[in-house]
Amino acid sequence: MNYDVIIIGAGPGGIFSAYELMKKKPGLSIAVFETGHPLEKRKCPIDGVKVKSCIGCPTCAIMNGFGGAGAFSDGKYNITNDFGGTLYEYIGREQAIELMEYVDEINCEYGGSGTKMYSTSGTSFKKKCMQNGLTLLDASVRHLGTDINYVVLENIYAALKESVDFYFDTPVDTVETDGDGYRVKCKAGEFTGKYCVISVGRSGSKWMQGICEALSIPTKSNRVDIGVRVELPSVIFDDITSELYESKIVYRTEKFEDHVRTFCMNPHGIVVNENTNGIVTVNGHSFEDESKKTENTNFALLVAKHFSEPFKDSNGYGESIARLSNMLGGGVIVQRFGDLVRGRRSTASRIEESTVHPTLAATPGDLSLVLPKRIMDGIIEMIYALDKIAPGTANDDTLLYGVEVKFYNMEVKLDEHLETTHRGLFVIGDGSGVTHSLSHASASGVYVARYIAGN
Ligand SMILES: Cc1cc2nc3c(=O)[nH]c(=O)nc-3n(C[C@H](O)[C@H](O)[C@H](O)COP(=O)(O)OP(=O)(O)OC[C@H]3O[C@@H](n4cnc5c(N)ncnc54)[C@H](O)[C@@H]3O)c2cc1C
Repeated sequence: MNYDVIIIGAGPGGIFSAYELMKKKPGLSIAVFETGHPLEKRKCPIDGVKVKSCIGCPTCAIMNGFGGAGAFSDGKYNITNDFGGTLYEYIGREQAIELMEYVDEINCEYGGSGTKMYSTSGTSFKKKCMQNGLTLLDASVRHLGTDINYVVLENIYAALKESVDFYFDTPVDTVETDGDGYRVKCKAGEFTGKYCVISVGRSGSKWMQGICEALSIPTKSNRVDIGVRVELPSVIFDDITSELYESKIVYRTEKFEDHVRTFCMNPHGIVVNENTNGIVTVNGHSFEDESKKTENTNFALLVAKHFSEPFKDSNGYGESIARLSNMLGGGVIVQRFGDLVRGRRSTASRIEESTVHPTLAATPGDLSLVLPKRIMDGIIEMIYALDKIAPGTANDDTLLYGVEVKFYNMEVKLDEHLETTHRGLFVIGDGSGVTHSLSHASASGVYVARYIAGN
């Protein structure tokens, strides 16, 4: 089968490539290959009753399938160059923002219009942060929420499937050069395309590495972010979350001058397990639906670790720490802040007596046995710094879940068109190492589609 464009991966990057190609050049033949299921068939078997932990499905319903890793996410589309990726380094700051705004327009058109856009511009909160040694990063954020995010994906798929051939449950095995174009091999057969856009996300990182080796595309290692998820009564952060929803705050520690940052804030949300290649880590969700809101807010506190010589495997380092927590706790560990600073483990009865009711059933334990001292010290320092702008953050009953790890793909060598050293072969989204967010991944898809359509 011959196509004009072959897209590998149906996450936000792949979806927005296909969407923009369909709009800009309606006559193009486009195929999307996806390891996972169509959206409606994506169901994680963990129900908390019969199935309590990961049973290692052949494809993970949370990470793979139409919508990619973002399908069941909180659907926070941040419009900013300050975090979420370094797309601006390739395409310029102005264009990166324009494309993220365009993605927002599409999301609104396909069901997200009733959701709220928050912004840091003009907030007095920025000054308050500065006065307390904290930096508030600039951003606008559209919060779709897990429920509306799903609706938007359903609607976009309905529009795409009329013009685009989707091959679900079809992981691409290999990509080879074929004359002027590319040949992909998978269980459905062999397919050629003049252009090939690879958008395989985090879950496709090992595969991506293999493809880069096979096609001699240079790569370099990236960073890993390690930390905990904090859960506290929503009232403590209400002033911040009602104005900004998602605030990215950075703190430089006094002891080591490391940067600790808040990440993925979920007002009135829940803490959830996340499974990455069989390792259970922690994450958070929140909902637009009033009936699903909880009395708690959660967010991550993360410290970035970069490695150079001789050790380069940042992700391996993060995985080992997460494995250690899984070994000690059988999964995610939860600890009261008061127990952590007193140097004792949390127990089921201490968690039971806590005024903060955990939204995730995790194992009470001691995070100081898992996280390296330098990272743990940084997190404790930041909690005390946050306590100055949101009094109550450093309460004894504040819950810390660990570990939260944010893995990054290695960076693929790309030019200003996000094109590899092979003409017509593009790598976009999180799989490229350039992006690590919904908005940046989607914008990279639009960008490449426009370039292909203009050729
Ligand atoms: C629980 C969770 C919550 C998140 N919340 C947010 C948030 O609120 N805001 C935010 O900005 N970001 C969030 N993120 C991150 C965000 O989801 C990702 O940055 C984004 O999905 C990246 O898009 P992508 O298209 O590059 O990759 P992905 O979304 O990972 O999609 C890649 C797709 O490629 C497929 N694939 C992989 N290998 C192959 C292959 N060989 N052949 C065919 N298909 C393949 C995969 O199955 C997958 O569906 C969250 C992530 C998670 C896991």
